[in-house]
Amino acid sequence: MLLYNTLTQKKEEFLPHEPGKVRMYTCGPTVYHFAHIGNLRTYIMEDMLERSLRYLGYDVTRAMNITDVGHLSSDGDTGEDKMLSGAKREHKSVMEIAKFYTDAFFADCEKLGIKKPEIVVPATSCIDTFIELVSVLLEKGFAYLAGGNVYFDTSKLKTYYVFGNMEEEGLAVGVRESVEADDNKRNKSDFVLWFTKSKFDDQELKWESPWGLGYPGWHIECSGISIQYLGEYLDIHCGGIDNAFPHHTNEIAQSESYLGHPWCRYWFHVLHLNDARGKMSKSKGGFLTLSLLEEKGYDPMAYRFFCLQSHYRRPLAFSFENLDNAAAAYKKLVQRIAALSDDGKRDEAAAAPLREAFRDALANDINTAQAVTVLYDVLKADLPDGEKRALLAEFDEVLSLRLMEAAAENKEPDGVTAEEAAEIEALIARRAEARKAKNWAEADAIRDELSARGVTLTDTPEGVKWTKK
Ligand code: AMP
Ligand code: ZN
Repeated sequence: MLLYNTLTQKKEEFLPHEPGKVRMYTCGPTVYHFAHIGNLRTYIMEDMLERSLRYLGYDVTRAMNITDVGHLSSDGDTGEDKMLSGAKREHKSVMEIAKFYTDAFFADCEKLGIKKPEIVVPATSCIDTFIELVSVLLEKGFAYLAGGNVYFDTSKLKTYYVFGNMEEEGLAVGVRESVEADDNKRNKSDFVLWFTKSKFDDQELKWESPWGLGYPGWHIECSGISIQYLGEYLDIHCGGIDNAFPHHTNEIAQSESYLGHPWCRYWFHVLHLNDARGKMSKSKGGFLTLSLLEEKGYDPMAYRFFCLQSHYRRPLAFSFENLDNAAAAYKKLVQRIAALSDDGKRDEAAAAPLREAFRDALANDINTAQAVTVLYDVLKADLPDGEKRALLAEFDEVLSLRLMEAAAENKEPDGVTAEEAAEIEALIARRAEARKAKNWAEADAIRDELSARGVTLTDTPEGVKWTKK
């Protein structure tokens, strides 16, 4: 399998530390607000990485943190804790905010067919681990105390900017977010491991530590959780490209100084979802959530399909026109699958090259767009419908587009003739018209008539669905 590695800036043969086994870590959400569809692009593509590895035969263990403390409004360690700003905005406690937005995040993931990693760890549950890491970094001389905080000393490293020289970009972060410089730092690139001197007196969550009552920095959370749950050698670390600097750069500095050896071999970064204003971001406001897309009538699967149609290493331009095109293509694909007969016939030999094309697409740096193209190749192929169905179902397990489920729903229920289905659809349309005109009596009468025919209606974000007993 070939995977692009941000560390070497090349596509490389993927060789995990232990053959056949993959230890994979994902930076999780900062749970102070809903995830926007840009964040969700990153989680969809990371999910595709995990599913592709499994499909290609690897045994994957994956961990993800939940950032519920320590991520300040600037990635450069200054400003207010994002969790605290969320709590203030909603007049709730930090832990209430964390619970609410963690649940909302996993609800979005479920709708988008994103598998939940088997290990999910809130940062607030690992404070002892972070204290242990910081203590060792101090003992080894990689950290220093200044103004009550503990800082990592980047001048102790041979190479700090491991992803190329990102210094300028780092400076730009500071300028853009107009944050004050921290006079305690010995070097401009040093960063906080443990805060005791928050600029905000009312920081809600604090813990006892050898350096006083305080809280961990954001970067140490991912080093600590990853080492605690996945061990000293990590195979793949993922995140959005904005995490490469300073977050991942700092994680590498801390982890390798603590462990005394190289830590993670492959760095997988997803490029940004941009809209007309540039990178979609929570701080800019006016961002799009999955619920908002649903309110506008989009099936979450249309958004997943939209993401899979382009490569994770290219920026993705969002517009409603682009999403409409993806939604229409998804619907058409489902209809074509629904039209396949259930003949149960198989032709394994003829299916083999298609399966190989699908595997090759994923094994070539997770080329999801190419993998989607193979779905169309299956539909066009000279194969019995039963074999097409079997192949599409197998590929759909990996792409997680719920194509087979949607195709089954698209079919008329068993025992209903096309003529009867048309009558039922016409009655449903008349009922919708009546409801629009606030003609409740007629709407109810139609519902009764449908119910007498054994038809049950369910309101869904995609409109009214029906089933017949
Ligand atoms: P956060 O909840 O802010 O910690 O971000 C969660 C994930 O979303 C991180 O991996 C970010 O790198 C990623 N991310 C943030 N903005 C975007 C965007 N516009 N497009 C894609 N990924 C993003
Ligand atoms: Zn992280």
